[in-house]
Amino acid sequence: MTREPTIGVLAVQGNFQEHMATLRRLNVRAVEVRKPEELEGIDALVIPGGESTAIGRLIRRYGLEEAIRRFTGPVLGTCAGMILLDRDHLGLVDVAVERNAYGRQVWSFEADLDLVEGGEPLRGVFIRAPRVTEAGPGVEVLAEHDGTPVLLRDGRFLVASFHPELTDDTRVHAKLLELVREEGLVRA
Ligand code: GLN
Repeated sequence: MTREPTIGVLAVQGNFQEHMATLRRLNVRAVEVRKPEELEGIDALVIPGGESTAIGRLIRRYGLEEAIRRFTGPVLGTCAGMILLDRDHLGLVDVAVERNAYGRQVWSFEADLDLVEGGEPLRGVFIRAPRVTEAGPGVEVLAEHDGTPVLLRDGRFLVASFHPELTDDTRVHAKLLELVREEGLVRA
């Protein structure tokens, strides 16, 4: 049986609407997730940027933290979403991350990112962005900025320190859909 995948976007705080819009541009069903049971019907989850402390507090209060730990599908975490997935928070992605690490002068900036797999550079919008300070051996670097990894894959997890939902480029979200298809093949 084939059907279009449904992608959930964690919608407790932050940039979830922009992620919903990007996913719709890719013609997939996108749904907002605010309750643990809403994770049951989805094929992948996006954890958006925003304020990681606020999102962390809210997911604990709504019982979403445990539900996210139990979720077995692909997950994309951007900016604050990457912080929540790191070693010090949910511990689902083997990276250490420093919050707001790009300094006050460059609090927010944009940069063209070369993708390891090639193709057109990806425009990265960084807003009070977290910096990856360490990545475990199983983590694949997909793009770097000034020698620091900014887009990484750890198995079924994709994390970005920038905001792919704020540009017209849908390639990072398309990568999440690729992981959904890969998982489908593995399960079938
Ligand atoms: N500075 C935010 C945090 O620490 C992340 C910024 C963002 O998601 N745009 O949670």
